[in-house]
Amino acid sequence: MSMNRVYNFSAGPSTLPLPVLEKAQKDFVCYGDAGMSVTEMSHRSKMFEDIIQKAQADLRTLMAIPDNYKVLFLQGGASMQFAQVPLNLLSAYKSGKADYINSGNFANLAIKEAQRYGDIKVVASSREDGYTHIPDWDEAEFRPDADYFYICQNNTIYGTRFTTLPNTGKVPLVADMSSCILSEPTDVSRYGLILAGAQKNVAPAGVTIVIVREDLIGHALDIAPTMLKYDTMAANDSMYNTPPCFGIYMAGLTFEWLLANGGLAQMKEYNQRKAAVLYDYLDQSRLFKNPVRKQDRSMMNVTFVTGNADLDKKFCKEAEAAGLMNIKGHRSVGGMRASIYNAMPIEGVVKLTEFMEKFEKENG
Ligand SMILES: *Cc1c(COP(=O)(O)O)cnc(C)c1O
Repeated sequence: MSMNRVYNFSAGPSTLPLPVLEKAQKDFVCYGDAGMSVTEMSHRSKMFEDIIQKAQADLRTLMAIPDNYKVLFLQGGASMQFAQVPLNLLSAYKSGKADYINSGNFANLAIKEAQRYGDIKVVASSREDGYTHIPDWDEAEFRPDADYFYICQNNTIYGTRFTTLPNTGKVPLVADMSSCILSEPTDVSRYGLILAGAQKNVAPAGVTIVIVREDLIGHALDIAPTMLKYDTMAANDSMYNTPPCFGIYMAGLTFEWLLANGGLAQMKEYNQRKAAVLYDYLDQSRLFKNPVRKQDRSMMNVTFVTGNADLDKKFCKEAEAAGLMNIKGHRSVGGMRASIYNAMPIEGVVKLTEFMEKFEKENG
């Protein structure tokens, strides 16, 4: 079965660990001795309660999430959080202000959405530079009375990431970690809220993970729909209504897989080795170039270009024929992008660089 699988470098939905897929397949029709599939189970059943509680407990263990944080499994994707964050947090400390760093398309969308609800200041931006680096910030620009401070920690489209966090003092830091969650250990206590769509590094599309400090819950704007208030979901263990059951189940399998493989410290070490294979090759290549400022390079999304759009196209086509799929860059930037999330084996990255080397010889 697995012999027909390709190396899938898609940015999302993206490759999942093979043991996770195989376990889900094995248990798909009959989960344990339940005599039914997880897709058929009442979310109010004891069986599903065990699944969601175990998923949450394992995520707490993996990320060492402190007790004063809630873990929520929501729907609507990371994009829904672009609205949900301001709707819930803008009134938390009652200034109605929030500061944002504009480091890419998803940060920009979050800014646009937040502007509908409050006084939003963009304190740093790399938009003028095509988002090829994380913006340099000046703490003097930060507003000490802001309700929160927002960053997109890993910029999926541009292949950049924050390696140091802005010092926001008492202002809660909110981070979109859709494309980097669980790729390395995270000090959750540095954040007021972490959000992540699951379909990059965790599970199929349909689940959004929110990790939120308890004191930030319960102050939503009056206009916030019931379904979009964090306290609605927190008070009901993410089951105010039917949750994305199967996605939560698969996220749980990924958490188990990570725990069985040494947790996030081990994952970081592996991800660093994988990324180094690609970046080391790119740094000596005469054909391919990584457009990102070195210190801001993402460990999860590696972008590269030849400088010639036709050649880029040819590369993507030939890569696909060689079983290296979804290597095309985001439609807004072109070029190539290899997303090398947790589940991408190092063998896939080695095969990609070997293929690039061959292509360079033939086309250089
Ligand atoms: C993919 C992605 C999003 C959008 O996620 P959806 O689940 O499609 O809404 C937002 N932010 C980041 C960093 C992403 O990688």
